[in-house]
Amino acid sequence: MRVRFAPSPTGYLHIGGLRTALYNFLLAKRHGGTFLLRIEDTDQTRFVEDAEQDIFDSLTWAGISFDEGPGKGGSFGPYHQSARSARYKDVADQLIGLGKAYVAFDSSGEIEALKEKLTSLENPNPRYDYATRSEMTNSLTLSKEETVLRMGRGDEYVVRLLVHPGKEVSFIDAVRGQVTFVSDAVDDQVLIKSDGLPTYHLANIVDDHDMEITHVIRGEEWLSSTPKHILLYDALGWTAPQMAHLPLILSPSGGKLSKRNAESEGIPVSVKQYRDKGYEPEALVNFLALLGWNPGTDQELMTVDEMAAAFSLDRVGQAGVQFDLQKLAWFNEQYLRGRSPLSIAQTIYPAAADRYPGVSLEFVAGAVSLMLERLSFASDVLDAAYLFEDPNSFDETAVAKRWKENSGPLCASFSKKLGTISPWTAESLQVCLKEFVEENGIGIGEIMFPARMALSGLPSGPDLYAMMALLGVDSVQRRLLRASTSIGV
Ligand code: GLU
Repeated sequence: MRVRFAPSPTGYLHIGGLRTALYNFLLAKRHGGTFLLRIEDTDQTRFVEDAEQDIFDSLTWAGISFDEGPGKGGSFGPYHQSARSARYKDVADQLIGLGKAYVAFDSSGEIEALKEKLTSLENPNPRYDYATRSEMTNSLTLSKEETVLRMGRGDEYVVRLLVHPGKEVSFIDAVRGQVTFVSDAVDDQVLIKSDGLPTYHLANIVDDHDMEITHVIRGEEWLSSTPKHILLYDALGWTAPQMAHLPLILSPSGGKLSKRNAESEGIPVSVKQYRDKGYEPEALVNFLALLGWNPGTDQELMTVDEMAAAFSLDRVGQAGVQFDLQKLAWFNEQYLRGRSPLSIAQTIYPAAADRYPGVSLEFVAGAVSLMLERLSFASDVLDAAYLFEDPNSFDETAVAKRWKENSGPLCASFSKKLGTISPWTAESLQVCLKEFVEENGIGIGEIMFPARMALSGLPSGPDLYAMMALLGVDSVQRRLLRASTSIGV
């Protein structure tokens, strides 16, 4: 088995693209096959500078490694289509030689004029095909001499596939079963553009053939291109790989997850956005694996090895699947909680040090450990600013309701008592607070609430004793004293 992920570097990698890469990767892993990365960069008009780097970065981040490809090598390279132009030209020439492709000189203006002339109610969408090619300027309508002359003097031309009408063409799609179409519906597609570069269709099938790809797994949006590919394979006498078209990813409101409607529904579409937002890569991968495939059990949390062991194309659905951001958030929380506080702290430490200069890694790890059950994203802990610096405001509603006359004095005397504690641990702090309550003959809430307010400025939050243990004696005493003289006065 040889499979490939063949993105075009036309923008930041879309999450749908990451899912395609993942399914290819899982299938190869399952069958001990080879997974290769091929960069389809023949369309110079849509080239985006850092898109290729983003593809590598996104795959690496997601833990999807390839066996052959740019920077990795392999015996089927080069793996950039831009470095394979001569081969596409050869194949096009071969097709012309076989009488299966022809040269066409029409300018885009002339093609538009023809379309305009032929458009009617019965024929709303005329194309360059069996019905119209005889009216155009091409090597089928010109004499051989004229064709050679025009090519020789440098007239612009394209190479088109000669598609005969009336043929029924079928292929088996591993997800959709048998797909049949009639050749009348396919135009004489361009194989080589006037700039001498191949179109996607030609380059894609030549490479899949030359790279000995056995399974083409790609998004449903490519299904309509497949008839063209099958006709090309037939024309060349090559066997087409097994095809599998993955279901569309739909936005929560139902439409296709296009950039525009995804954004309006608050769903990031590029993998980069998920990386920047701080998603756990394993969570996104697990979520995407189940977006269109099911393992046949209720298991949701799966390692990549478990997914690979269970993966098969016949468990990929045909129907579009809705993107559920809440579900992804759930996966993210599960994976986050499975990590050690220190490893999470390491991930966010640069951001932590940037926001709270001088903070230590150990302190960040302590803060993560204190907040772990409350985090959706690793970096959320940094939003609990009171863990890192003294609060600069106190929740007014809670203060108005619950800060009593004795609250300030109690904070001050509690602070004094804390000076005697050793060791400074959550357990001894709890014992100390209980003693304080008894000594003063007060209810526990009469000191717990003011202390929490003094420390965090908020009426609720993480475990008070653990929070005090993290903050340390100096910081706790300072905050208690400050509150005793500033709140409610
Ligand atoms: N270059 C195409 C893309 O950008 C490849 C489609 C295919 O896998 O054939 O998705």
